[in-house]
Amino acid sequence: MKVLVIGKGGREHALCWKLKQSPRVTTVYCAPGNAGTALDAQNVAIEPGDHRGLAQFARREGIGLTIVGPEEPLAKGLVDFFQREGLRIFGPRRDAAELEGSKVFAKELMRQAGIPTADYRVFRSAPDAEHYILSREVALVVRSRGRSMIRNTIHCRTAAETLEAVERILDPREMLGPGVQVEIEDRGARKVFGTFAEARDYVLNCPLGLVVKADGLAAGKGVYVCGTLRQALEAIDQIMVRRVYGQAGDRVLIEERLDGRETSVLALTDGRTIVPLVSSQDYKRALDGDEGPNTGGMGAFSPTPMVTSDLMEEVEREILVPIVHALKRARKPFRGVIYAGLMLTNQGPKVLEFNVRFGDPETQVILMRLKSDLLDALEAVVDERLDQVELEWDPRPSVTVVMAAEGYPGPYERNRWIQNVEGADRLPDVKVFHAGTKLRPDPEAGREPRIVSDGGRVLNVTALGDDLAKARERAYEAVAKIRFPGGLYRRDIAAEPAPAPEA
Ligand code: AMP
Repeated sequence: MKVLVIGKGGREHALCWKLKQSPRVTTVYCAPGNAGTALDAQNVAIEPGDHRGLAQFARREGIGLTIVGPEEPLAKGLVDFFQREGLRIFGPRRDAAELEGSKVFAKELMRQAGIPTADYRVFRSAPDAEHYILSREVALVVRSRGRSMIRNTIHCRTAAETLEAVERILDPREMLGPGVQVEIEDRGARKVFGTFAEARDYVLNCPLGLVVKADGLAAGKGVYVCGTLRQALEAIDQIMVRRVYGQAGDRVLIEERLDGRETSVLALTDGRTIVPLVSSQDYKRALDGDEGPNTGGMGAFSPTPMVTSDLMEEVEREILVPIVHALKRARKPFRGVIYAGLMLTNQGPKVLEFNVRFGDPETQVILMRLKSDLLDALEAVVDERLDQVELEWDPRPSVTVVMAAEGYPGPYERNRWIQNVEGADRLPDVKVFHAGTKLRPDPEAGREPRIVSDGGRVLNVTALGDDLAKARERAYEAVAKIRFPGGLYRRDIAAEPAPAPEA
């Protein structure tokens, strides 16, 4: 069978690589692909947004199954289009992909199905959202100092009440002359202010845990974890006033901030049966020690001790089964891979978000450990016979280290020449998946084309080992072989957590 993978990242390279191992697969195509898929598969120069072009290609080449990697084509209805054309494709239809495409839809469904998640409110306008933020509980005490006519001590429950009290005390129309000041007491600590602006500044900087999210797809951005009212107001400004995510910001969600450790669980589902994949853990921050800005993911390993078999069962029972059922009841049956981003709180796992596709770079470490035929599993999803599938896994752990372009996740340069990927690939149990790479003809005639960087996350250097430490060692050994000027990577992927300090 010929198969077609849609996308151009490390996830798609891993899918191509694994599909190629199936004895039933004759050719793997990747559209548009990268330098890695050019070597392990055949690239096709069609963009994921070109539904008609992809369908024409699939028909002409007699593609037996198309697999969609990224979320955008799912949200735009690529699966619906293929199905209408009578073509087989793996992934949820547009209405089910809304689970990722609209955070409001996902939250409402979770609420209906009783799935544990952060409390939230939805807003359609900036003033309503701002009003809500300013009405969060802050419990401050305001007192006038100097010759104010205003009642001396005012207990305020919210920021809005506090600012109103401050404004009244400092109201210039009161003509109280100089010397009137306002004192704000926060849990015993007192501060005195002479102007409204100073007092407002203080109130807005009070600590408060809120998360502000743009409703729609914002390329992994659009989520603001806020520690103060000011940050929350700024997030509303970005999303709803400046509209930096365009239509994705038509609605915002404001959630309570959850505390705990984050992990994720991925599962295949045909809408009836759910088959969880092995656990994995990714690293979102750019720098060692979980410092620096958020990224698409700087590395991952599998399995993770955070997801015990008890937790896996709980997630299946309390989260995956109810969400798949809720989608079915809503007449939006889900077929594909479902990804639950979780916060492990004191009250158990709570859902941060759902994705409707393979995670990147989680997929790289998961597929590295898959022993079963991936094509069989994906076809079983499409044909709704997942109940017949049992996945077999390599017991050995896997690790992937992301090599990123200098500057990522900010602006970065492309077209850096990357050398000796094949040297890294030759190490036993190592596979270098390409993410942001492309092939460029070598200026010297007769030479192989060069691999150059063409994105933020460039390579996913992936290894298996007898234990996690060995997998990690091997992945870093492979990283050391690659010559990538300016290439950045975290040095603490899959490192032992720092030992607890001695009592
Ligand atoms: P999301 O795209 O919704 O998963 O959000 C991206 C990141 O924001 C998550 O991986 C978390 O680190 C953080 N986050 C999202 N929602 C919350 C929440 N309710 N409480 C704490 N952190 C959150």
